[in-house]
Amino acid sequence: GKGAAMVTAVAYRVAAQQAERQRILDTLRLSREQLLEVKRRMTEGMVLGLSKQTHDQTSVKMLPTYVRSTPDGTEQGDFLALDLGGSSFRVLLVRLRSEKRQKVDMHQKIYSIPQETMQGTGEELFDHIVHCIADFLEYMGMRGASLPLGFTFSFPCHQSKLDEGILLKWTKGFKASDCEGKDVVMLLKEAVRRKQEFDLNFVAIVNDTVGTMMTCGYEDPKCEVGLIVGTGTNACYMEEMHNIEMVEGNEGRMCVNVEWGAFGEKGELDDFCTQFDHAVDDCSNFPGKQRYEKMISGMYLGEIVRNVLLDFTTKGLLFRGKLSERLKTRGIFETKFLSQIESDRLAMRQVRSILQHLGLTVSTCDDSVLVKEVCSVVARRAAQLCGAGLAALVDRIRQSRNLNQLSITVGVDGTLYKTHPHFSSIMQETLQDLAPQCQVTFLKSEDGSGKGAALITAVACRVESEGRQ
Ligand code: BGC
Ligand code: MG
Repeated sequence: GKGAAMVTAVAYRVAAQQAERQRILDTLRLSREQLLEVKRRMTEGMVLGLSKQTHDQTSVKMLPTYVRSTPDGTEQGDFLALDLGGSSFRVLLVRLRSEKRQKVDMHQKIYSIPQETMQGTGEELFDHIVHCIADFLEYMGMRGASLPLGFTFSFPCHQSKLDEGILLKWTKGFKASDCEGKDVVMLLKEAVRRKQEFDLNFVAIVNDTVGTMMTCGYEDPKCEVGLIVGTGTNACYMEEMHNIEMVEGNEGRMCVNVEWGAFGEKGELDDFCTQFDHAVDDCSNFPGKQRYEKMISGMYLGEIVRNVLLDFTTKGLLFRGKLSERLKTRGIFETKFLSQIESDRLAMRQVRSILQHLGLTVSTCDDSVLVKEVCSVVARRAAQLCGAGLAALVDRIRQSRNLNQLSITVGVDGTLYKTHPHFSSIMQETLQDLAPQCQVTFLKSEDGSGKGAALITAVACRVESEGRQ
């Protein structure tokens, strides 16, 4: 009768909506073939980046770092380190005692950098940094001490020596004017001079990936790759000098900062991007830039999720079709949230309470299930893309050493990698699948950005003093 027909109509509508949701989510799912293609294009980008002739044609910059030797454990002394470009800005004092290898004492203070400062003038930014250093020295009772300083500066820099780094472009949340194209060490030195209170003894400027590799290398000599999956994403590795055409000399190896976050700027990821990726890119600080990073790192995953939820809601597939102001607000989903919501220990009512906490009113249990599924699909894709890039990297190392099998350690850091319940395992699965001839061990770094800068500074000081003797 009539009742049965209505039930059928409702059932039909529910099924159609469910199919529509899955159709949309499918655009965010990548096949093995697609991931292999990402790996292939990343390899191609890396090769182009290393060669002088083709360097300008690729999005993958393969920047020489002038880091050649890993720590040998005899380094010692007190070092200052700065860490700018991750989730917080820090000043650190690092004490290395050679007789206690692996025992490193660190004191640090975290400082906030207001949004206005990140996006104001370069002078304001560097004055602020110097102000924080002065505060730290005061706090440690070390005013006037001129210690060797390592600066972890987590942005793409062109280096022609260890203590010089020309900022190629800002990424992530930074956008201070008059810095791009300039030597960051000089900018900091000028700010120190303006302050007229103390002197600094600059030794090294270091990318966070390199700091991470070095820190893990202090414990495990097989660590020749550094990986960051945090606010941004990037990797570095030890490359044969004869392959690095941008640097004279053919002996030994040098660490190369891949800057893979920029992959995709030449259209390499266009066939895998969704409308949601385009929406996130369009509203970002730098449209068209850092396309791979925007599909992987913590600063952007929440925004992808939010855009999917917006689309679902507009189509009446979620939240009973009611768009809230909250959902229209940029940046409401932080990495923390993505990690929480996917935690296996959570019951659905806890997911619901997290969403309510965010100001999103969940009407049905299905809403919570769907939001969780969106988070999971977006994080899975991120982990797989990252795994595909890493597969390209380790396979390149294996081939350039003419090995059939490579066993290697990757030092890794970053909040997304460390706090997300599934990211690391999905990434490793993908890596194993796409680079079966490499046995990769992951070593989480304990504060690679801070300790790493100090270690690189220490190695440089050691090598220099050995040279003098
Ligand atoms: C920067 C890299 C950095 C990475 C992780 C990216 O946005 O370009 O230099 O290593 O973020 O912090
Ligand atoms: Mg060379």
